[in-house]
Amino acid sequence: MSDSATHHRVLVIGGGNGGVSVAARLRRAGVTDIALVEPREHHYYQPLFSHVAGGTARASITVRPQQAVIPRGVHWIRAAVTGIHPDDNAVSLDDGSRVTYDHVIVSPGLQNDWSRIPGLVEGLDSPTVASHYEHALAAKASLLLRDLTSGTVVFTEPAGPASCAGAAQKPMYQACDYWRATGVLDDIRVVMVVPTDTVFGIPAIDRELERSIDAYGIELRTGSEVINVDAAAGAVVISGPGGDERLSYDVLNAVPPQSAPDWLKTSTLPHEGDGGGFVEVDPETLRHPRYPNVWGLGDAAATRNSKCGGALRKQTFVLAKNVAAVLRGHEPAHRYDGYAVCPFTVSRSSVVWAEFDDTGALKPTIPFLPTMYRENRLSWIADRYVLPWVYWNLILTGRV
Ligand SMILES: Cc1cc2nc3c(=O)[nH]c(=O)nc-3n(C[C@H](O)[C@H](O)[C@H](O)COP(=O)(O)OP(=O)(O)OC[C@H]3O[C@@H](n4cnc5c(N)ncnc54)[C@H](O)[C@@H]3O)c2cc1C
Repeated sequence: MSDSATHHRVLVIGGGNGGVSVAARLRRAGVTDIALVEPREHHYYQPLFSHVAGGTARASITVRPQQAVIPRGVHWIRAAVTGIHPDDNAVSLDDGSRVTYDHVIVSPGLQNDWSRIPGLVEGLDSPTVASHYEHALAAKASLLLRDLTSGTVVFTEPAGPASCAGAAQKPMYQACDYWRATGVLDDIRVVMVVPTDTVFGIPAIDRELERSIDAYGIELRTGSEVINVDAAAGAVVISGPGGDERLSYDVLNAVPPQSAPDWLKTSTLPHEGDGGGFVEVDPETLRHPRYPNVWGLGDAAATRNSKCGGALRKQTFVLAKNVAAVLRGHEPAHRYDGYAVCPFTVSRSSVVWAEFDDTGALKPTIPFLPTMYRENRLSWIADRYVLPWVYWNLILTGRV
């Protein structure tokens, strides 16, 4: 063991949804000497980015100082991990130092690969391209969508892994609802590009969303992705089953391709031959099968579920229990069940609350309300008002 200043009993990589909540849960379980590595000065509640772009929340309520969410008793290391060396129980940081651990929980989320779509990076500097997948750009998206009164708007969902993939669609429905209310919807051509064969991929949810798509007159391009942005000309190239199509736009809301962080991809933590580069884990215990003191959590873990914050509420519970048990010399006994949720805001006052597991089966939280997924206003209140409060006050503090 190296000196105590650079060694910790539990090291958490990433101070986002997963990292902060699991550190808080471990503190509540009495675990001491936890350090959390996080380079950002600010912590974001990302699900509200969709509401910002959709015009139903201010950007300022989605962010808090990172210091304010670090659980009491957890040591914050303000740096970025640049490499992980599981054979040495160590990580390297971007300030040149090394930290060793007894156990490490890897939760650095996904990286946004903007440059994988040629022209997209340049497009983001242009006046008509935005993205609600970045805090700064969500407010830009909001203004662009609010001010559009005619023309073509293109919304994109990337192929490959994505954080709450369905969230790509959320501001679109809200904007359509707004345009309908202001009487301009008929003058706006709305195109949604999705990589899946249907709008989402689960029949019951598809049926709910298709009703809104029909009502708003949205043109859905399934099995498709944007492969080029020409911001100077205001056009995108969409690759789909019928070949490539060049489409002019007045506003483009682009969700970037996403992947595991590069330093993780090049480490020995992913499954050999797994091109995604996510942390290999037992999808139920969240423990690494080859390195028993490595645990994977959240968007960066190679679990089978849809990547989302709702999954983390269950994962952090399981992982904290299992790490605490192993630290006491027991076997990990808790199991994650693959639960995920995607609340589709299909208007500015209703939500399709899609809860499902890693087989695509519906998985309602309230068993006696199996049709909870159908469009309703109660879920809107939950998504817009209740969950943000629960996140800041109960989830990040390890209470739920
Ligand atoms: C626009 C948007 C809308 C969403 N909507 C919903 C929704 O409605 N419902 C839902 O359930 N989920 C939603 N999600 C998904 C949800 O936000 C994520 O699933 C969740 O935040 C993942 O948590 P995480 O801890 O794995 O990653 P994150 O919360 O992304 O946190 C990762 C943290 O790791 C840090 N990090 C990165 N690299 C390093 C490094 N090298 N060293 C140290 N730290 C590092 C980052 O700075 C970040 O703070 C949405 C996501 C987005 C982007």
